[in-house]
Amino acid sequence: MQRELLEKQLREQKIELVRAIYMGPDGITRGKAFRPGELDAILESGIGLTQAQMSVTVFDHLPSLSKYQPVGEVRIRPDVDTFQVLPYLPGHARMLADVETLQGDPWELCPRSLLKDFLSRLAARGLQIQTAFENEFTLSDQTETGWEPVDQLNCFSSAAMDLASPFILPLIDALEQQGIKVEKYYPEAGPGQQEIPIRHQAGLLAADQQVVFKETVRGVALAHGYRVSFMPKISPAFAGNGCHIHFSLWDENRNLFYDPAGEFNLSGTARHFMGGILKHLPALMALTAPTTNSYRRFVERCWSSSYTCWGPDNREASVRAASGYQGQEAATVNLEYRPCDPTCNPYLALSALICAGLDGIENELDPGDPVLTDPALLSAEERRALNMNAYPTDLETALSALEQNPVLLSGLGENRITDYLTMKRAEISMIDSLGDEGERQAYEFRF
Ligand code: GLU
Ligand code: MG
Repeated sequence: MQRELLEKQLREQKIELVRAIYMGPDGITRGKAFRPGELDAILESGIGLTQAQMSVTVFDHLPSLSKYQPVGEVRIRPDVDTFQVLPYLPGHARMLADVETLQGDPWELCPRSLLKDFLSRLAARGLQIQTAFENEFTLSDQTETGWEPVDQLNCFSSAAMDLASPFILPLIDALEQQGIKVEKYYPEAGPGQQEIPIRHQAGLLAADQQVVFKETVRGVALAHGYRVSFMPKISPAFAGNGCHIHFSLWDENRNLFYDPAGEFNLSGTARHFMGGILKHLPALMALTAPTTNSYRRFVERCWSSSYTCWGPDNREASVRAASGYQGQEAATVNLEYRPCDPTCNPYLALSALICAGLDGIENELDPGDPVLTDPALLSAEERRALNMNAYPTDLETALSALEQNPVLLSGLGENRITDYLTMKRAEISMIDSLGDEGERQAYEFRF
């Protein structure tokens, strides 16, 4: 954004505080806010941050095994192009930020910088990725007994739309004012569960919009007396909150996942990308389903997917090959990665997907046969014959798979992954010591 325009907005909207927001590997949006008079200095050299802050768990606890301890400094460097006045909070604005070294280089743990690297790797091959993060979340309002979901009604229920309506239109308005294009809205299967699919975007913007989306959902809810939770599985009895990732690879002007002659209109590139994803599950899940609670979501027959496989329009597959819209197939055929939830850091999740997909493309990996039914309806033997594995039942299993995955380790950087594993293992042991209530405290409202 041009400086003059930015300054005009600060003045006209009477902005008192501008947040410089980053999302650390723990998936929580954090930041520091500054007064508009500091703008020049902060755009020039950022805001100080102790380097260990990128290694803390959701409990703000710094593991003693982390390489980064309280000595050492990095800078939160806001990206002026992401400036937005917060439509739901008068007097406040935000910029998304990278985390940099004191010399102004990307800090080795900065997730946003990692995604920029992966996008450059794609660009070097003439490729670009289009992505949409598709969040589900639970909307609650206050009752005499505490915060309760706003409805106990059905999936796509029109009556549930009525109950959520005082929140939904202000939310859509706030999203669109920030350049997020809302395509649809519907209540989903769980009590109070909502979904608002948004338009896909190229490269970094899609991950930035995922941060802005969640910030806005939370902020509009608070402004209207509601609370939202992005926790993947609030109760074993409820449908989980997923965050499926829709994506397609493009060259200058063509969707490279589409081939009218291919089975299900899929190109060889799409098949190889899926081959990479399936090869690197469950290591990928350490980054896309990154909380202990994430693993409670993977339950058979709950549409979360729970076996490693792919299938055309199969909502129980790890990768759903989404059929294109009639007459617009070339533009709309895409892949949907399902073992992801909204506690993920979208920069890490998308980087990991690209890393796995590039491995698939480079090595022409075969995703195997498509699965045309719900894997839960097959016998264990039939699943074995189709090479389907059940997902890990806990986060530690996915972390161990990541630790042993040379492609993701070297692609994402050993220091980064070592620190991530240390941080996540500290989080697991804290939650183990606190029990189910500790897990709720960790994940219910922090994301
Ligand atoms: N709630 C399901 C999940 O946990 C997804 C339902 C759907 O297909 O939208 O991923
Ligand atoms: Mg859904």
